[in-house]
Amino acid sequence: MAALRLMRALQRADWRVEAADDGAAGTAPGNVCDSDGDARGNVIDAGGGAVDPRGSVDARGSAIDASGGTVAALLARHGQPESAVRWLWEPLCLAALNTPTTQADAQLFAHVLRDSLAGSRAASDLLLPRADLSALWPDAAAALCDMRYGVTVRSVEPSAEGVRLDGEHYDAAILAVPPANAARLLGAALHAEATRTAVVPTRPLSSSTFSGTFSGTSTGTSGDLAARLAGFEYSPIATLNLRLAAPWRLPLPMMMLREDPARSHDGQWLFDRAALAGEPSRGELSVVVSAAARLADRLARDGRDASVAPLVDQVREQASRGGLAPLPAIAHAELLVDKRATFLATPGLARPGNATPWPTLCLAGDWTDTGYPAVLEGAVRSGQRAAALIAASR
Ligand SMILES: Cc1cc2nc3c(=O)[nH]c(=O)nc-3n(C[C@H](O)[C@H](O)[C@H](O)COP(=O)(O)OP(=O)(O)OC[C@H]3O[C@@H](n4cnc5c(N)ncnc54)[C@H](O)[C@@H]3O)c2cc1C
Repeated sequence: MAALRLMRALQRADWRVEAADDGAAGTAPGNVCDSDGDARGNVIDAGGGAVDPRGSVDARGSAIDASGGTVAALLARHGQPESAVRWLWEPLCLAALNTPTTQADAQLFAHVLRDSLAGSRAASDLLLPRADLSALWPDAAAALCDMRYGVTVRSVEPSAEGVRLDGEHYDAAILAVPPANAARLLGAALHAEATRTAVVPTRPLSSSTFSGTFSGTSTGTSGDLAARLAGFEYSPIATLNLRLAAPWRLPLPMMMLREDPARSHDGQWLFDRAALAGEPSRGELSVVVSAAARLADRLARDGRDASVAPLVDQVREQASRGGLAPLPAIAHAELLVDKRATFLATPGLARPGNATPWPTLCLAGDWTDTGYPAVLEGAVRSGQRAAALIAASR
């Protein structure tokens, strides 16, 4: 298996991480092993020759024995050197699963590696949108259908005949809200269904009832669905947006930062937002922190200024070590912490499928049982599955 072979190569080789400076690297996570890495970026070097993971992987899919364990346990089992863990596996795991390696589900990680490192070169391209995400996708999708913006759905009443949303009848519906919201909206219906089926036993519906082609989408009973919706824990992502008093450029649009928890230097990636937006006359940066539980706690305990200052200090220090121009004064700082950015992708998490006990109602979202962590790819696949299930049931 691809990831396994890469791990074996890393285990054998005398790995070291090369960086032109002491603090930062410029390559994208998917390309850190790329043999084309330039002087400003990190190249993971195996005893004199940079290793291209494409040479050590194949596309046969995931055969890695990762079931049931964490990514940290998997890496330890395959004897990964500290440098490979720190500079390759941990950043990849945080970027993909938003979950620390010590907690992250190795099986989901293996799926990501299978579809990225074991895919074509383009499968691990890092795509940085110049437009905001709304302009990129939802606005384009909205142009193809009737949208009602700013409306919060308060009640969902599914039945064999259709679904009533806030009292309005629809033939079918896809509920594409986060799991806690789905649990709230379906609570009464799931409870009623559980009571009904307890009195009159019925065969639990499964997604195979509708198509028979999707794996990992078992419905279970209403009680099982309610338990799965309630079973998620969440992991924060933090973004610090900085407006600088003068223009300032990174050599590349993004730079890896060196974390130092003891000094609250939690930043992992630094983005040159002004350059990405094509506005080089401005100075705008973003510092991104995945699995940001520590930073979220500090923000709650010590307040905004005490949380922003160490991150700015980290950027200033590592930019200086990297030989970049001194960072101008900070004109404005905005720290956004999304406490429930993604679900915590831990081993054994039982994620619901797309189907529900009602053939008229399906679930969609990155948190359904997609085989992927909480990423856009999973959300898209989930939406497609839900639509196919609804179409097949009609
Ligand atoms: C800071 C951050 C950075 C991320 N970065 C990346 C990344 O780089 N790459 C990547 O692949 N993924 C990333 N993700 C994850 C990605 O955003 C999610 O995987 C994706 O948005 C999930 O889509 P979804 O449709 O499942 O859910 P969501 O995007 O959460 O959509 C659910 C929608 O339901 C709405 N809603 C909830 N309740 C109701 C109600 N009662 N009535 C009406 N509407 C309701 C919500 O307002 C929301 O708009 C990031 C997430 C965060 C928070």
